[in-house]
Amino acid sequence: MIRYEAIGMGACCQGRCGFCRERGGAYRDLDSLLAELRQAHRPLNLYFSSGHAAGNPALAPLASQAVLEGARRLKVKVSGAGRLDADLLALLLARGVMIYEIECLGPTAAVHDGITGIKASFRGVERTLDLLVRGTARTRACGRPFVSVVMPVCEGNVESVGVMKDRMKAWRPDRLVFLNTGTVAVSRVVFELRSSISALVVDEVWPVLSGFPFCAIPGLEHFAQELYDRQVSHPAALFCQNCLFSRHCCGVSGAYLAEHGAADFHAVVWHRYQEDLVQLMDRAAPPSAELDRERLERGGDA
Ligand code: SF4
Repeated sequence: MIRYEAIGMGACCQGRCGFCRERGGAYRDLDSLLAELRQAHRPLNLYFSSGHAAGNPALAPLASQAVLEGARRLKVKVSGAGRLDADLLALLLARGVMIYEIECLGPTAAVHDGITGIKASFRGVERTLDLLVRGTARTRACGRPFVSVVMPVCEGNVESVGVMKDRMKAWRPDRLVFLNTGTVAVSRVVFELRSSISALVVDEVWPVLSGFPFCAIPGLEHFAQELYDRQVSHPAALFCQNCLFSRHCCGVSGAYLAEHGAADFHAVVWHRYQEDLVQLMDRAAPPSAELDRERLERGGDA
C-alpha cells in the first residue's frame, strides 16, 4: 500500500456535481504551494488534488521542486472539462508527473453530462483519455503516463456502476477506481462492484475501491485504495471502536449514518488476512517517530 500526501491545487472546475465540495474557486499560487510542499510530512509520494489540478500553471514548477526534494511518485487530478493538451501533458511528463487520475461520472454522455451540468464534458473526458493513453509523438517521447479513470459513485450514476467496466475495453486505462462519495447506500452497489471487479481483472484493468470501509466490502479488501488516511476521513463511529481496522479505515460520516443508517457496517473482530493488511497499512503510514525524524532531517518543525 502506498500513502500519498495530498496538496490541493485550488479547484477551478466548472462542474456542478452535487456530491462535490471542490467546485469553482481559484487556483492557488506557486508561493503558497511551495510553502505547503516544505511542510509536507512525507514528500516521497505526492497527489496534486482538487478540481482540474493539472490546469494550475504552478504545477510544473512545483513538480520540479518536489522531484528535487526527493519525491518519487507524482499524481495529479484531471477534469475532462478542463484543458489538457499535448503541450501541457508533455511539459508535466518532463517534470516527472507520471500518474493521472481523470474523473468520469458515467459510461455515457447522458449520465456524465447530466451530473456535471456541462454539455459535452463527456466528450472532453474521452478526448483527454485518448491523449493520456495513446499520446502523440511528442508526449510519447516524454514517457507513458499511468492512467486511472475515477468514477465517483453518486445518486445520478448508481444505476450505471455495472456498465462502466464495459467502457474500459475501448478506453484502455491502467485502472478504474470506484470512489465512494458517501451519498449512496453501500449495499446498493456492492453486487455491481463485485461483478465489475471480476470482469476488469479479466480485461487487465486494475480495479480499485476507494473510500469503502472494509466491513462493507467483505471479500474485496484487496481492491481497497492504497490510501487510507485519517486526515481526509470521518471520526470513528461507535461501531468502529472495537474494529481491527479502526486506525486505518476511512470510516463513515455522520451525514451518511443519518440518511442511510448503519446496517451496512459492523466491527471487524477477525479477518483472514488481518496480519497482512494491518502490516501493509502500518508500513504505508509511518509511525510518528519516523515522521519526526524525517522532519528533523529536513530542518522542519518536529
Ligand atoms: S467498523 Fe468502522 S473502522 Fe471497521 S471497517 Fe467498518 S467503518 Fe471501518
